[in-house]
Amino acid sequence: MKFYISGEWVDRDEKINVINPFDGTIINTVPKGNAKDVENAIASAVNGSKIMENMPAYKRYEILLKAANLMQENIDDLAETITLEEGKVITEATAEVERAIQTMTSSAEEAKRLYGETIPLDSAPHWTGQFGFTMRVPCGVVAAISPFNFPLNLVCHKVGPALAAGNSVIVKPATDTPLSALKLTKILLEAGAPKDSIQCITGPGGEIGDKIVSDPRVRKVTFTGSKDVGEQICKSAGLKKVTMELGSNSPLIIMPDADIDKVVQATISSGFSNSGQVCISAQRIIANKSIYSDYLDALTAGVKNIKTGNPLDKSVKMGPMVRNNDATRVNEWITEAVNSGARNLTGGEYEGAMHQPTVLADVKADMKISCEELFGPAVAVTPCNNLEDAIEMANDSNYGLSAAIFTQNIDYAMQFAKRVNSGNLMINSGPQWRADMMPYGGLKDSGMGKEGPKYAVEEMTELKMVIYHP
Ligand code: NAP
Repeated sequence: MKFYISGEWVDRDEKINVINPFDGTIINTVPKGNAKDVENAIASAVNGSKIMENMPAYKRYEILLKAANLMQENIDDLAETITLEEGKVITEATAEVERAIQTMTSSAEEAKRLYGETIPLDSAPHWTGQFGFTMRVPCGVVAAISPFNFPLNLVCHKVGPALAAGNSVIVKPATDTPLSALKLTKILLEAGAPKDSIQCITGPGGEIGDKIVSDPRVRKVTFTGSKDVGEQICKSAGLKKVTMELGSNSPLIIMPDADIDKVVQATISSGFSNSGQVCISAQRIIANKSIYSDYLDALTAGVKNIKTGNPLDKSVKMGPMVRNNDATRVNEWITEAVNSGARNLTGGEYEGAMHQPTVLADVKADMKISCEELFGPAVAVTPCNNLEDAIEMANDSNYGLSAAIFTQNIDYAMQFAKRVNSGNLMINSGPQWRADMMPYGGLKDSGMGKEGPKYAVEEMTELKMVIYHP
């Protein structure tokens, strides 16, 4: 595919191969963007921002809604594209497109809700005659940098609110998975987005991504990806607004009164969907000693039943990781844990990008598989004595994106919600749960700012204060 900058679909001699992680075949190529392309994209986006800030809200609504309808018409092609470039099973890819359609629809609705408020200035002495109100205005040019693991929905979470709020947007998709973002760009243009309002440029993040985020004409950066790259972007961005949706090693606490069958189902869907490559995957399972061995027996049996293979096959439940070297890294962390005393109950082998779903028991907090972000198909189970113990273990992390507890005890559940330092807290569900309209984001090293169209339009607008002096 070509990329889209300055109102044109552009090709370059230098290409990047897009690889199907399941069989290593080249499914497409994209141009490798360079510094001049970034300059052209930004100049066009500056022009686009002027067009967008003058476009009435109902028109922005219509464009985004039409894009959502076109996505619905192209659902099979979009889902297959996700599976081929990313490796997630086709049922999960279809669910991603369905969610992306909702993300665009609620972004359309938010275009109509950019409210300000009147400020009661007479609530303090002296300010009796003035009349004050706030106005929400677009930031201007928004840079949207996205990761590989949800190549459509996470791009929609940036592009939808950016356009809804009256900005122009420059998308830099992950190099492994650029096709979904390019197809979304085509759909938005077909839906009536002005030609300069969107740019989608492909190429290495360290080169073109850095050039985009450091440019002073870009007024807002919205980034989803790893903590290290997020930190680098914050340094390069300088004085501009940033939203950071970063990684995690999410804990799942199991109390003695939990329904073990439900917890096992939740561990499997939260730990192994998209081969564990979800920012809120269940990674650290903290299980009360009284149910520890029953839970491990049931979990091991369930994980052994996960059918792996070609992600286009509808009966397959888990496909490959995105790259071979990620499977190698996951396997090294598993080996390191086993060599330090963890028990491997099932899995533990890999070939190419296919890593078997793996359960490790008796994991210690200082093992890499527990204290760092794994982002792969394994769960690390550790026993705990009581709720105090479990909360302390859950909080023993620099991350804080999602956490979960299974219990029927409302007191335990409320203690968990109050005391676990995490942006998203699940009671009787695995940590991998997200509704696209909710305010989603992390604490600590998991980032700052919120996504979810209602909250993202606030992040992508500035508040002006107006005071009338009689
Ligand atoms: P990544 O390596 O951090 O890359 C993310 C994006 O940043 C890619 O488009 C990448 O481009 C670009 N990039 C790399 N270096 C850059 C730089 N110096 N300046 C600007 N852009 C740069 O992450 P990933 O491997 O794609 O995704 C996995 C990570 O994302 C995990 O840590 C996961 O937890 C996190 N994530 C978080 C959330 C959330 O909502 N909190 C959701 C999904 C994923 P290239 O591809 O060209 O390198």
